[in-house]
Amino acid sequence: MDITLLGTGSPIPDPNRAGPSTLVRAGEQVILCDAGRGVVMRLAGAFAGPAALSAILVTHLHSDHLTDLNDVITTRWIMSNESAPVTIYGPVGLDFVVTKMMEMLSLDVGYRIAHHDDLNEPPAVTVVEVAPGDSFLIGDVTVRVGATNHQPVEPTVAFRLEHEGTSVVLGGDGIPCSALDELCAGATAYVQTVLRDDIVKLFPLPRFQDILDYHSTVEQAAQTATKAGVKTLILTHYVPGIGPGQEEEWRAIAATHFSGDIVLGDDLTSVSI
Ligand SMILES: [Zn+2]
Ligand SMILES: [Zn+2]
Repeated sequence: MDITLLGTGSPIPDPNRAGPSTLVRAGEQVILCDAGRGVVMRLAGAFAGPAALSAILVTHLHSDHLTDLNDVITTRWIMSNESAPVTIYGPVGLDFVVTKMMEMLSLDVGYRIAHHDDLNEPPAVTVVEVAPGDSFLIGDVTVRVGATNHQPVEPTVAFRLEHEGTSVVLGGDGIPCSALDELCAGATAYVQTVLRDDIVKLFPLPRFQDILDYHSTVEQAAQTATKAGVKTLILTHYVPGIGPGQEEEWRAIAATHFSGDIVLGDDLTSVSI
């Protein structure tokens, strides 16, 4: 199983970090989790265009995690020679978001169908709303859905992908909770979005301070990883972005609470587990 951090950024604009999205390759399956700013460019960087995706997972409906989902849908549609249906799995509310997104795209869809003789159908998108406790298959990859705590954002979910004895949990945003501990238990790898509370606290902007109560710190992510007994902790969605040369500082903070492998870095950082 290969995990690629396509976008390691957050809502804070960063010329070098795309918005949150992660790619998992497992056997023949190519699975995208979240579709933040610039996801299609990063997919190209990972040699996996939208047309190659087996399915899309969405952890929650915060805009930074799906602002470029429409680009994935449109690019897949126009870059595929045949109808390329895709299924998007996510929490309750996803159907509303995607329905409105398709409505937003409908003029463009009309232009392209009118212009291209070999394009006759709109993008074939299926939405499956999932809830904690659900499980489903993407090819031979088993996906289990767990709850996360990103309140007041609700519902939010994490996904555990299992393939031939290897597993990864895509934790999305949130603070530690027992449901996440349970989903992570014994996983090979755990991907968590994190912030540095020590840095965030230096900026006395109320709206910036608000994020402290619903995001895991680096320490908390490491503690969850230790509690669950995972082998590899993968950190992403850095708030603020990791500055040049500061990777080891971030890694050292995680390492005080977790003794396994720690992966973090720039966009397109990849690890095989
Ligand atoms: Zn969020
Ligand atoms: Zn986020």
